[in-house]
Amino acid sequence: MVETKRQEPRLAAAGDEKRFLGDLEKYCRIVTELGGVDVRVVTPQDIVQNIRPRLTCIFGHCPSLGTSYFCPPNWDFPWEYQKEILNSYQHIIIYRIPYEKENLACYTGPAGSNQLEGYIYQYKSHWTDEEVQYWLDMMKKYTAPMSAVRAKNIGRIIESTARKDGYYFAFTGFQGSCSQHKCTKFGAHCIFITGGICRFPCEVRPDGAGAMNIDFMRTNARMGWKSWTGGWSALPEYFPEDVEEYLYHTAIVYID
Ligand code: SF4
Repeated sequence: MVETKRQEPRLAAAGDEKRFLGDLEKYCRIVTELGGVDVRVVTPQDIVQNIRPRLTCIFGHCPSLGTSYFCPPNWDFPWEYQKEILNSYQHIIIYRIPYEKENLACYTGPAGSNQLEGYIYQYKSHWTDEEVQYWLDMMKKYTAPMSAVRAKNIGRIIESTARKDGYYFAFTGFQGSCSQHKCTKFGAHCIFITGGICRFPCEVRPDGAGAMNIDFMRTNARMGWKSWTGGWSALPEYFPEDVEEYLYHTAIVYID
């Protein structure tokens, strides 16, 4: 029988800077191997928080509003907490996931992240037959494979690898609602809100923009990356001609 020695947790600030830097390099390498690009290690000062994303969650009305426990208004971390959490980390891995131009509809528009199917199911009893048909046609026209999930999976892999390495507060910041990317097949119906139990307790994290008020557009600009407004009503055909320059999903993982 093979004996395994239990590893003591390693702390980032425990004086072994060389090991810590080696671990950061390892995480960046994993991101790249899994398809991320432009990976770099930054500090909280490089990440822009802005209280105003909450306005765009509520007015303009993100279809995820109220549909997930981890989106507003259910997840309502005070602004001061959000800032303190971000600033409590000293290192943040930020990277981008490229989208294919052919799959622009998974980046923006009503079918982005496969959310439309769940929302039609959820809202159809409040819509007329014509409205349901309109959205079914939109879904047919715009549904594309989703690469946002890839960004989330990479983040989770980095987070769990770092936690096993002893950085037990490693945390991945998501972009997007779990009602879209996890519970769409259940009609985007969140049983955490209604029953207090999540279907995917180990996999979900609060939305980076809606729950942590990360301003990804300004953060991208700070990194020197171009970005364009995506979303429910920003149809793929509204994008600029040089669309490739904008087709990236930004993701962050907090490590300490
Ligand atoms: S049940 Fe689904 S929608 Fe609700 S918090 Fe869990 S993953 Fe998110």
